[in-house]
Amino acid sequence: MNVLVINAGSSSLKYQLFDMDNKAVLAKGLCERIGIDGRLTHTNPNKSEKYCENVPMKDHADAIRAVINILVDKEWGVIESMKEIDAVGHRVVHGGEYFADSVIIDDSVIKAIEDCIPLAPLHNTANLIGIDACKDVMGADIPQVAVFDTAFHQTMDPVDYIYSIPYDYYKKYKIRRYGFHGTSHKYVAQQASEMLGIPLEHLRVITCHLGNGSSVTAVKGGKSVDTSMGFTPLAGLPMGTRSGDIDPAIINFLCEHEGKSAEEILEVMNKESGVYGVSGVSSDFRDLDTAINEGNERAKLAKDIFINSVKKLIGSYIAEMGGVDAVVFTAGVGENDRSVRWDVCEHMEYLGIKVDPEKNKYRGRQMDISVDYARVRVLVIPTNEELVIAEDTKRLVEAAEDE
Ligand code: ADP
Repeated sequence: MNVLVINAGSSSLKYQLFDMDNKAVLAKGLCERIGIDGRLTHTNPNKSEKYCENVPMKDHADAIRAVINILVDKEWGVIESMKEIDAVGHRVVHGGEYFADSVIIDDSVIKAIEDCIPLAPLHNTANLIGIDACKDVMGADIPQVAVFDTAFHQTMDPVDYIYSIPYDYYKKYKIRRYGFHGTSHKYVAQQASEMLGIPLEHLRVITCHLGNGSSVTAVKGGKSVDTSMGFTPLAGLPMGTRSGDIDPAIINFLCEHEGKSAEEILEVMNKESGVYGVSGVSSDFRDLDTAINEGNERAKLAKDIFINSVKKLIGSYIAEMGGVDAVVFTAGVGENDRSVRWDVCEHMEYLGIKVDPEKNKYRGRQMDISVDYARVRVLVIPTNEELVIAEDTKRLVEAAEDE
């Protein structure tokens, strides 16, 4: 079965075509500047070069057409015709309280995703446009599946998802902790169980997805029991440009003193804060490291705040789960930045956590980086959200065919 995975943003669309018989990536790429002019970057693993051209894309349907055209292209393509795509899997950011698992898209699912638009206006709108565009271009007969960033966290208890504000706001507006990056947290927790040879039901794992956006999740018996992102992906850890948790009174204070609206201040919290805001250098940890090596104190402070925040979350989740068997690092920073892993785990020997500096030298590969005698295993596991989307799509489409 060939599955096309689509991750649609407001002006971009990422795709990967999987052959699910052997889980191989047949091709992948990115449409950018949709609605502006349009640019397509396409990788066929059998070729040494990338295809990178301006292709007009006035909307997402044009972008999907461009994707199909390149997938069936004589020179750059990997399939003969669109008929060789058996199903499409979409990343959808917000499933609210409607979805605790991925689902085959029908009219009622579309309606529920629309109902969640107020919870993630930019993301869900873009995801819906992507779904619509696929239906338009590929026809209604191709099964489409939605895989939600929030679904994995639907197992949390009210004690972890209810905010201590008037309960009516939860009832009226569904204001609660949802959590995000669920596909990644679920995948690396499963991988950890396989690596350690311990069934997921018996494992307590803390998964640290540290990338441009970052979140930490406590996974007990394969279920998300707590996570650092909240009502929106702005909460929890400081990130590339996002503030993470702050005292909410700061918003009002800044509105008054900066003469800005709440919306403008939220824009600052989303786009001008985090390690970028504190360092004044960059949202990218590689640039931070360069600046730190040149003696930039604020870059060091920004990174230290980030590290300290991850450390505090790990400590609180160990307390919450009554212990931990493994800590997993994943995503751009977690997979690649050895100093983050080292500093986060430093001084945690009393909890059974001790990283081996030799093993920690490697980056971007799946491995156990803890010293042999450590009680708690520290693992680096490259995430693969696209593969999870493709696997869920296959699982649901095959189950529907069996019915
Ligand atoms: P996204 O959340 O956008 O999916 P990624 O998981 O790809 O982000 O992470 C991107 C971030 O990973 C970059 O902003 C950069 O800070 C970090 N990163 C990537 N490679 C390295 C590296 N070699 N060393 C340190 N940080 C890295």
